[in-house]
Amino acid sequence: MQRREFLAGSIAAGAGLLLPGQASAAESRVATKSASQCLEGETKTMSFEQPKLPYAEDALAPYISKEQMFYHYEKHHAGYFTKLNGLVEGKPEAEMPLRELVVQAEGGVFNNAAQAWNHSFFWNCMSPSDGGGQPKGALADAIERDFGSLKQFQEQFAQLATTLFGSGWAWLASDKQGKLEILPMSNAGTPLKDGKEPVLTLDVWEHAYYIDYRNERNRFAEGFWDVVNWDFAQKCYSDATA
Ligand code: FE
Repeated sequence: MQRREFLAGSIAAGAGLLLPGQASAAESRVATKSASQCLEGETKTMSFEQPKLPYAEDALAPYISKEQMFYHYEKHHAGYFTKLNGLVEGKPEAEMPLRELVVQAEGGVFNNAAQAWNHSFFWNCMSPSDGGGQPKGALADAIERDFGSLKQFQEQFAQLATTLFGSGWAWLASDKQGKLEILPMSNAGTPLKDGKEPVLTLDVWEHAYYIDYRNERNRFAEGFWDVVNWDFAQKCYSDATA
């Protein structure tokens, strides 16, 4: 695939516009549009559908092997959608945009909705063709302003991701004014719940890395910078401050 084609597909997938099976479902059901955010713009139907992975399962190897990605995407991530759809079947929540449900829900519905949304966001935070390198523009400036330098930000993010106790997520999030912060959050935690906009995330549940890295979460966290999708993070940061 040409780089330009991949980028177009990746950005569209990141915007939640090209989801498998969604067009036909949308045609046959009453659909509503959610607000446009970097992962949203989804067409909502009566159940929640797992977005297509924006690259092949082996595309991020050796950082994430095909086997690791298969279990993570097809078993864990898919499982959250299955459980969520079971919990909300026949209820008004089933018709809400996923992002809105994450903000409003509590308990089991929140856990599964947030895990469904967080993973979809996470896949877009990595890119096989364009990953790594440095951020540009407003995001680069904000990282330097709020963390001192890109290197200091990356070290702090990887360290917090490594030392987060138990299962959870390391987030880079922005407030409405564009101030960035690193938020380590347990379990299904997400900045959406605190009214902040996700810019970047790393899944540090053991299921995210155990096949490839066993107990060495630090190597998984440090390697993230080789595949990180700065273009996506930048779009999320622009949306957060628009
Ligand atoms: Fe995960």
